[in-house]
Amino acid sequence: MAGMKKVISGIVAAFLCALGAQGALKVASLHPLLSDMARQVGGDAVEVVNLFPENGELHAFEPTASDVAKAAGAELVLACGKGVEPYLEDLRDSLPAGTQVIELGQAVPDVYLPGSKVADPHWWNSPTAMKRASRSLRSALETAEPGRKATFAKGQRAYAAQMDTLVREARLAFAAIPQEKRVLVCSHAAMSHFCKDFGFSALAVHGIAQESEGDTASLARILAELRRQSVPCLFYGVNEPPRVLQTIANQVGARALPLALDGINPATPTYAELFRFNVRNIVEGLSR
Ligand SMILES: [Zn+2]
Repeated sequence: MAGMKKVISGIVAAFLCALGAQGALKVASLHPLLSDMARQVGGDAVEVVNLFPENGELHAFEPTASDVAKAAGAELVLACGKGVEPYLEDLRDSLPAGTQVIELGQAVPDVYLPGSKVADPHWWNSPTAMKRASRSLRSALETAEPGRKATFAKGQRAYAAQMDTLVREARLAFAAIPQEKRVLVCSHAAMSHFCKDFGFSALAVHGIAQESEGDTASLARILAELRRQSVPCLFYGVNEPPRVLQTIANQVGARALPLALDGINPATPTYAELFRFNVRNIVEGLSR
């Protein structure tokens, strides 16, 4: 009898164990940096499914039916918001009821492109914005899984502290760049949030997406401006062909270096690595 009891309690224990393993909250994400944030804030209480393809292009990506299938069973789908995912309404319609799509960028105040009323959607280039978004993520996780509040609070505090460290590191590194050289000329308009945080001014060769064409008149104006300011380095998106930017750089006697403008760079999969990659290249390009 005692033996049978032992067997039964063993079966029950094994069953509970399996439940525990499957009990992690499933979170799907439409951007690798949001996947990284979810892993760090959620810890072992979440299972993160990254829906963005390894070498995808942010402004061209649209989830396929098989991506949507990967999100099956997810309680939350994390999106950047601010118009980064024009397909979001269709995605909401194709997800099962009960899956909540959260636009983490809604927590971040808009920053407008210089001299325009167009908001720059690339909010992840600001660690301060990432910190804000991590608080929204924490609330969403807590609502979905109230029993793991302590885990989420601990994860979010550590994430926020890491963002503060990155800001401090960047400020120190940028001290090497003379004030008049703090101009970020990028292939597409992606660094307004970053520039606002770190006291740079931004100039973009193209619009929000790298496909948007700059006209000849504005190109002439940009060339004149680059020469006038003797800008030493221009920056292209790490996942864009550098040809156009390199041609412009050659015309004004500048260098061209990559930045992970869209937050996507398989070589630097975490936010800290990606941000440090950008800081290094900015310092390298502008400090001499
Ligand atoms: Zn972009």
